[in-house]
Amino acid sequence: MVSSSAAGSRQQVFVLVGGTGDLAMRMLWPSLAMLDQDGFLADNLRIISVAREDCGTEVCVDRIGNAVTKRVGESLEPGTLARFRKRIVHVALDAAKDDWGAKLKAELGDIEHLDVVFFLSVSPSLFKPICEHIERAGLNKAPNRVIIEKPIGRDLASSKVINDSVAHAFDESRTFRIDHYLGKETVQNLIALRFGNVVFEPLWNSQTIDHVQITIAETVGVGERLGYYDEYGAIRDMLQNHLLQLVCLLAMEPPSALSSDALRDEKVKVLRSLKAITVDNVKDHTARGQYGPGFADGHPVAGYEVEKGSPSNTETFVAIKAEIANWRWAGTPFYLRTGKCLPSRSTEIVIQFKPLPHSIFGTEAKANRLHIRLQPDEDISLTVMNKAPGLTAEGTHLQSLDLSLSLIKAFEGNGEKAPRRRIAYERLILDALQGNNAQFVRRDEVEAAWMWVDGIIDSWTKTSMKPQQYPAGTFGPVSGYRLIERDEGRTWND
Ligand code: NAD
Repeated sequence: MVSSSAAGSRQQVFVLVGGTGDLAMRMLWPSLAMLDQDGFLADNLRIISVAREDCGTEVCVDRIGNAVTKRVGESLEPGTLARFRKRIVHVALDAAKDDWGAKLKAELGDIEHLDVVFFLSVSPSLFKPICEHIERAGLNKAPNRVIIEKPIGRDLASSKVINDSVAHAFDESRTFRIDHYLGKETVQNLIALRFGNVVFEPLWNSQTIDHVQITIAETVGVGERLGYYDEYGAIRDMLQNHLLQLVCLLAMEPPSALSSDALRDEKVKVLRSLKAITVDNVKDHTARGQYGPGFADGHPVAGYEVEKGSPSNTETFVAIKAEIANWRWAGTPFYLRTGKCLPSRSTEIVIQFKPLPHSIFGTEAKANRLHIRLQPDEDISLTVMNKAPGLTAEGTHLQSLDLSLSLIKAFEGNGEKAPRRRIAYERLILDALQGNNAQFVRRDEVEAAWMWVDGIIDSWTKTSMKPQQYPAGTFGPVSGYRLIERDEGRTWND
């Protein structure tokens, strides 16, 4: 947490480095505009867009206006865009040039009275030079802080290089590593559900929970990101960060407070308790796939290697049976999978409870299941068994019923206007402006996650485990199904 007394009376400036890029246009500018509309930005907050393109403020602001309208046009109220545009100035700066810091400083003005939040929405290869520019110009002093995006390295060693270069300018309390999954409403609700109710916690362990499944499925292929993706693959691009963050929130012990360190101390313990996957069990505990020809996202797909134009050892699908070596979770695996060119775009968590120890209803009584959907809709439901209504000659029959725990549906059911589904970045940018880093990833979390993932990649290399091809538009290779079905009675919730 950044000291609020340090930031308190200063004028806030949000410096969006990479302000003309794809992430900025699709997510960051629309998030900032919505925060402005909802009254979360101080009246005098300024926004400086920094990028290599010398397009001038007017053209840049027009492009931003179009991007905001495209993303959140339906929610825009009259006057929002006009007010928002006035906050923005665009400055063309090339990170390769030495005058980067001096020019930005000149634009910022009296830095002693400013509270500056930098968002580095640029390639991680630019984090070091940009942090050096910031430091040389004296723009790194408290309370100023920095937000950085994934990928934070492609292994433990490279993540340390990135973290060191940022740490040279900003101490850990002022370094905000974004995992945008942590800003999603349903992910935040996971914490509320687990620690705001007494009913779940006593059941939240291996005595009652059979297993947990987490799936992040994308229908799209790698598209224009092929150059980047071929270096990373599904395990580095999605599993090391988003999937493991979800594991942490599901598996962690109750924190003593909602404060940033209490929460993150518990998360890092989960990562450190993940059982290492080694050459001895990597073939049973992991599956790698790469999409081949098929049909996905409504289009014919030529296949990853055809798109690339050469052979590739990069996986576009990964499934892992993760085990957590502690008292709470021993014997309850977490099955994780993510991939591209799959049949549906969905992110979901399934908490599968154990069957009844003794059923007086024969086989009709199915085990309870808590289903948490993050995409395409955000929804939480609990499957419980009920008596089927009515009278039958054979006696009582059971029927499963989904109890919806969705707040959005509750609003709709009451005939009220449901709250707008926010972009995950809105929550995170607001937290960063307020100096609250609880929903950001701490350095030791990133490094513990890499340590575990590095072990898996190393085992793939040592056992020459290549990705198995799957037709685009299917749920991954056969080995992905075997991974879970090898354990009796378990299947993916496709
Ligand atoms: P992009 O290539 O679309 O935009 C990059 C931005 O960086 C541009 O504004 C460009 O002007 C600026 N830039 C590039 N070289 C520069 C230089 N030498 N000096 C100054 N500015 C320079 O990239 P993007 O897709 O917006 O991604 C930005 C970051 O966010 C990357 O680290 C990416 O991995 C990460 N990210 C992107 C997405 C996404 O959906 N696009 C998702 C997650 C993470």
